[in-house]
Amino acid sequence: MKNQELIDYLESCGVCRVCQLRYLKARGNEYRDMQQTFKRLDVKVPDITIVVDEITDEQPLKKQRLSICSICLGLFSEDLQRQVIQGILDSDFAKYDSDGIVLAISMPMTLQLRQLSMWFALQRKFGRSSVADHNAPDVPIKEAVKLILHPIVCAKLGREYDANGLMINIELRHSSEEDVVAKLSELNRAAFPAKNHRRVEISRGLLEKQYQPSRIKGDLFEQYLPIPPPAVMDPLQLQSIELLGPIVCVAGRYRKLSRELSHTPWVLHGQRIMEDSIEEIIVRHVAAYFTETPEKITFMSSGREDVDVRCLGKGRPFVLEIPNARRSSMTRQQALAMEQAVDCTGKVSIHNLQVVPREELTHIKTGEEQKRKYYRALCVLQEPVTLDILQKLQISDSFDIQQKTPIRVLHRRPLHTRPRTIFSVEARVQRENRRLLIIDVVSQAGTYIKELVHGEFGRTTPSISSIIGKPIDIVALDVVGIDLDWPADVNNTEIEVT
Ligand SMILES: [Zn+2]
Repeated sequence: MKNQELIDYLESCGVCRVCQLRYLKARGNEYRDMQQTFKRLDVKVPDITIVVDEITDEQPLKKQRLSICSICLGLFSEDLQRQVIQGILDSDFAKYDSDGIVLAISMPMTLQLRQLSMWFALQRKFGRSSVADHNAPDVPIKEAVKLILHPIVCAKLGREYDANGLMINIELRHSSEEDVVAKLSELNRAAFPAKNHRRVEISRGLLEKQYQPSRIKGDLFEQYLPIPPPAVMDPLQLQSIELLGPIVCVAGRYRKLSRELSHTPWVLHGQRIMEDSIEEIIVRHVAAYFTETPEKITFMSSGREDVDVRCLGKGRPFVLEIPNARRSSMTRQQALAMEQAVDCTGKVSIHNLQVVPREELTHIKTGEEQKRKYYRALCVLQEPVTLDILQKLQISDSFDIQQKTPIRVLHRRPLHTRPRTIFSVEARVQRENRRLLIIDVVSQAGTYIKELVHGEFGRTTPSISSIIGKPIDIVALDVVGIDLDWPADVNNTEIEVT
């Protein structure tokens, strides 16, 4: 099969220049200067600079109809490019600041069937030794779209192509789709009879997998759909454009200043137990800048504290995963304004607020058990603290405890006995009230500190209570440090140098 013969045949079937090049297996830049490519491949084609608008004979409509490619239905035409660009500009596109875009084009199934029909046609015309059963004779449409349409759309919109950027979902339709899919359903029943009379869902995936000459006979195909693909009256049309912003991750550290604040919304039997939560306060003040759908945000942190526990020191690392984000960056001034807005609540304070790469989320998600946590507990004894008690609570060597799931969390955690390491304990007396002890504990993450103090009827052993041999209770607890050096320190109060 010579290139010229192939092109002449495709030309006679009403195939456009771009698709002709696809059948010549053109790559990358070869679609840019098509005339040059044909020349290089030693193929003669009529002058391709003539465009439909310039045709002025008596039957312009007929010519126009003929000009719709029977294979791509105008997918690669300038007219469709114009429609797509205009559609994008008419959408909410301007509201997204994303530097990168990615196109996802959903095409009618009739396009795939037309490729197959031409595949059969070429086999009949040139023989199966020239056109194989397994290897499609053309550069697949999807790939050609990437080579041709993507660069044009990116250039017109002035954006880079970025797989993690703003996703532009473009749906195309064709007037013949419904009829073709009906025929396809009949064909599918005949070609691939379903076992157990199950209904087979006709999908693009099914077409890709089953619909090639190695799986289906051309003669059978032709009983339902024509070979080669027939001319059409109208081209592909733009059905819809939907935008989906990238996932942006905003990290920082929070301090929890209230002993009456839950981590996430606390709802029991449909009733709110606490009116606010750390998650809601942070999301409320950060989300609006990035998205119009704050309810889709995921809030994550490196562990959590109980409602009545404060978190002080450098605070606890957290991250917001924001889908469909309209913005992918923020200035330090903007970050500072968000930090200050959260601080104004008086319940939570945040700092180090910054946009982080999504890959860094692993810092929060993994290694949780290995992390050390630093606590300060205010504890009360039934009698004044003695020197003996104080000495027993100066422990610099680590030791292990066995901890049964506390009764208070049994409703949401399975009953287990977990070994936990306590790295150090240090106690001092509260001057004003000698029954009060301030105990600093460094423990493995996941240790229940309240139970470590009082022992919970021997469910945690050893415990502070068993070590001193006396009952002891916890009055208040603060987290004072979490050994996770993430996210990086940023000082948003500093003036940004640009
Ligand atoms: Zn075409």
